Amino acid sequence: MPRNNDLERMALQFVIDAGEEGILQSDMWKRLKVTSREGSRLAKKFEEKGVVERRRVLHGGRWTYKLFSMIKPVTIDSIMDCPCMICDDLDKCFEGGMLSPLNCSDMTAWVNPDIEPSQPDPVT
Ligand code: SF4
Repeated sequence: MPRNNDLERMALQFVIDAGEEGILQSDMWKRLKVTSREGSRLAKKFEEKGVVERRRVLHGGRWTYKLFSMIKPVTIDSIMDCPCMICDDLDKCFEGGMLSPLNCSDMTAWVNPDIEPSQPDPVT
C-alpha cells in the first residue's frame, strides 16, 4: 500500500484527471484500493484545503459525492497573452535589474487586471 503522501498525490491526480466531469468519491477509493472511510477522509481533507469541491449527487439511486478539482492544469494558452511574449526588452529584464517583472506595469496589469495602473513617480 502506498504511503500517505503518495496516496494523497494519487488521489488528487485522479480528481484532476477527471476534469470537468469529476469523479465519484467511491470510484476514487476503489482505484486507490482503500476503504470507504479512508477515501472519505481524503476527500474531506482535500475539500478543507480548498483543492477539491465535493458535490452531493444522486448515483444509482443513492446519494453520494462527486469530486471536482479546484486545481486547473496549466496550459500554454494561459500564458499566450503574457506581455513578455512580445516585449522588446525581454533580454534586459530580470529580478534586480533596471527592468524587472517586479516593477513592470504591463506585467502587473496582466497578473491582476483589477489593479489600477499606478502613477509614475514624480521626478524630483
Ligand atoms: S516583465 Fe515587463 S519589461 Fe519584463 S519582459 Fe515582461 S513585459 Fe517586458
